[in-house]
Amino acid sequence: MTQYDSDNIFAKILRGEIPAHRIYEDEATFVFMDIMPRADGHMLVIPKTPCRNMLDASPEQLAAVMATVQKISHAALEAFDAQGITLQQFNEAAGGQEVFHLHFHILPRRDGDALRPPG
Ligand code: C5P
Repeated sequence: MTQYDSDNIFAKILRGEIPAHRIYEDEATFVFMDIMPRADGHMLVIPKTPCRNMLDASPEQLAAVMATVQKISHAALEAFDAQGITLQQFNEAAGGQEVFHLHFHILPRRDGDALRPPG
């Protein structure tokens, strides 16, 4: 598998080199709004340490990211007036990954809604 590339756009966000709409952070994770939201309240959860994707993650990175995913999902139900949450996570180009730093999509859902198409 290809190595981690520290020039990826989420690494630049973590270094403060490009802006992001920050929602939450702790010692190990960072959460921000997706710039092309496919649902109202579409957020991304990333680890602060280098990690290409789920296939490359340590158990500790996955545990920290999933704890934040759960915490932010609970908050999103209330903050974005949602009744459900869809999680998405892509691994390698063939798996749909475009940015090569591990991330989980949190997509707040309302009864009967549909996700907007990407882009
Ligand atoms: O397919 P993948 O999950 O890798 O797609 C990357 C996601 O990162 C897209 O949903 C895109 O809108 C988002 N993105 C972002 N901010 C950027 C660049 C990409 O929220 N500066």
